[in-house]
Amino acid sequence: MSQNPPILRPDLARALVPDTRRDGQPTIGMVSLGCPKALVDSERILTRLRAEGYAISPDYKGADAVIVNTCGFLDSAKAESLEAIGEALQENGRVIVTGCLGAEPEYITGAHPKVLAVTGPHQYEAVLDAVHGAVPPSPDPFIDLLPTTGVSLTPRHYSYLKISEGCNHKCKFCIIPDMRGRLVSRPAHAILREAEKLVGAGVKELLVISQDTSAYGVDRKHDLSPWKGGEVRAHITDLARELGKLGAWVRLHYVYPYPHVRELIPLMAEGLVLPYLDIPFQHAHPDTLKRMARPAAAARTLDEIAAWRAVCPELTLRSTFIVGYPGETEAEFQTLLDWLDEAQLDRVGCFQYENVAGARSNDLPGHVPPEVKQERFDRFMEKAQAISAAKLAEKVGKVLEVIVDEVDGEGATCRTKADAPEIDGNLFIDEGFEGLAPGDIVKVEVDEAGEYDLWGRRL
Ligand code: SF4
Repeated sequence: MSQNPPILRPDLARALVPDTRRDGQPTIGMVSLGCPKALVDSERILTRLRAEGYAISPDYKGADAVIVNTCGFLDSAKAESLEAIGEALQENGRVIVTGCLGAEPEYITGAHPKVLAVTGPHQYEAVLDAVHGAVPPSPDPFIDLLPTTGVSLTPRHYSYLKISEGCNHKCKFCIIPDMRGRLVSRPAHAILREAEKLVGAGVKELLVISQDTSAYGVDRKHDLSPWKGGEVRAHITDLARELGKLGAWVRLHYVYPYPHVRELIPLMAEGLVLPYLDIPFQHAHPDTLKRMARPAAAARTLDEIAAWRAVCPELTLRSTFIVGYPGETEAEFQTLLDWLDEAQLDRVGCFQYENVAGARSNDLPGHVPPEVKQERFDRFMEKAQAISAAKLAEKVGKVLEVIVDEVDGEGATCRTKADAPEIDGNLFIDEGFEGLAPGDIVKVEVDEAGEYDLWGRRL
């Protein structure tokens, strides 16, 4: 939804995309905006281009053309995408646009008539055609071998693993189903093969993503595919179990609280999958959820959470919420606050409701004034922060396993199993970090806790 941090932008991330251009080699740059799902798309496009003999430029100037992978989830993200296209046009001049915002070509060409081509989300072939048209390939079979795991735009030791595209739901505030279509799941063996390659190439943490992870395989009627001399079912429980056997940390994102999520919890208790669930609850009041047309709106989520924690007490729950949704009354909002008090979620993100062009929620009655949204947001965040701080304080004195993300002269920035990259907190090691490298997994005794982060001593 917002621009990726500089380290993840291939136009800036020199260290991650080595400049190995040979004389005369056609060269493409890429600006990847938006969510981790869009980043996976960028990785796929670059992998293909590299396989076809293109070099990837770390800056605008060295590129023969630049692909801008856009985001169109919120109006603010659209504006940011248009700005990035403008920057690429100014700096390079030859720009191909793809991604979510590509679903609205007139919107882009209206603002930037000089773009070479506009393609929509997941139209890999169309993006490649546009690149071929703008910068013809010049393959060299002795040099241009496809790297085993593609070009990774995320740091090498963790990787996103996209298991499906699209969504079968119709939440009123969301235009993703219109942009990305209905759920299409990848075959289980294809995901597992990709994951195996990633782990073989040194990836230590797999972040499973999709619009609706718990619905994985529904469109395939949970079919079987051959795997390791047997068969594997296209079902999230079976997929998670097999992924867990590969030896990397496996983290599940965008899981809806359907009843079968219960089957995932024992895998977490066994240590096959990280005890972490990212569940976008969005609200807790049944009427608000109904107006949102959320899946599982009637689920008794507090009972579910209690049942999960009974099986796996160390489970970390992360979620996002929308406050100030049209028609949200003070009583509904208070229900959300009370729910949060009881649910004691570990990690919480909150958005103030915003109209998105094309969303059905725009036409709902009872839009909440901005100052009320802000006031509810502040109250919500105050409670969420207090819960987070108390939960982190309980970790002081405990020994935890952490994965190292970055090391510099000052210390090592790590994450515990309870922290997903970019969205959750960190654990910092200020002493005894010498010799650590990104991707190392080490034991740490926690000696200090803040509102979102921890500090610890390496054992
Ligand atoms: S579940 Fe709802 S919010 Fe999530 S992608 Fe589908 S429609 Fe959008």
